[in-house]
Amino acid sequence: MTTHPIALAIHGGCGTLPKAEMSEAEWAEAKADLALSLKAGWAVLGKGGTAVDAVEAAVLVMEDSPHFNAGHGAAFNADGEHELDASIMDGSNLAAGALCCVKRIRNPVSAAKALMRQGDPLLLAGPAGDTFAEAEGLDMVENEYFSTDRRRKNLSSMKIRELVGSASEASEAEKHGTVGAVARDRDGHLAAATSTGGYTNKPPGRVGDSPIIGAGTYARDGRCAVSGTGKGEFFIRYCIGHEIASLMAYKGLSLEEATRQAIAELTTHKIGAGLVAVGADGSIVAPYNSEGMYRGWITPDGFVHVATHGEVELAGQVEAA
Ligand code: ASP
Repeated sequence: MTTHPIALAIHGGCGTLPKAEMSEAEWAEAKADLALSLKAGWAVLGKGGTAVDAVEAAVLVMEDSPHFNAGHGAAFNADGEHELDASIMDGSNLAAGALCCVKRIRNPVSAAKALMRQGDPLLLAGPAGDTFAEAEGLDMVENEYFSTDRRRKNLSSMKIRELVGSASEASEAEKHGTVGAVARDRDGHLAAATSTGGYTNKPPGRVGDSPIIGAGTYARDGRCAVSGTGKGEFFIRYCIGHEIASLMAYKGLSLEEATRQAIAELTTHKIGAGLVAVGADGSIVAPYNSEGMYRGWITPDGFVHVATHGEVELAGQVEAA
């Protein structure tokens, strides 16, 4: 059987803070967590593991990190609670699992994978998702586990903006963020996973694009795997993940061109948007239209790359693909 070089890319959301608002130590920690996430996913792929297990492993690290809007560190909704959305998709057979508005699952991405393995249903909402995860024996936490001081400040500032009518002027960092990963494994299979707290001050019950297969998450062998970040309502309207795969399949566009077109379309709505994607050939792209996007990838020679804004930094070397 032919083996394929492995490929992995991640994002930690396009809601990056302006550099002036984060201490040097916090920047260093966020970048270190991006590198840890990449290394966790790469370790799975390096051992011959599946793309699905690799994207789960990578997303798990970012869910556990306080620096990204997913799991611990998730945004607050308007009621001061956390409602989390996540999904995962296996490009080899189009199997997928997703949860939305869950409140007690420490790592929603693992619950999405467990649901995918079960096969049917594909998407569980609210308490049903929490109950499913509990029955699966996954780690359950109190809702406060997800809270951090920074997100609390974001909620207060968004509430004030709401009162004075300046919500549309909020920075991407005040509003949102998400984490996601895409991978190709040694068998050439693709997978994508995405996890988020949604946007700050969102109405309770609001569901974004991250748990919507074809919108914020999509993977299909022979085409691409995509994980998005940005104003979810528009990712849903354009079915961004599926749109990119279709532009490649029906129009013959390259991954780079298809993702460029998708981001350009979203940009016409003046919203922050970004994504990571991997092609069937293992090529990787990470376009965004905002000031920055937490992101990273490992090149075939094993160099770990992480970035927050324009510049890309080396964060070590691992085994080559
Ligand atoms: N896409 C996420 C949502 O709309 C938020 C984000 O990525 O910033 O829930």
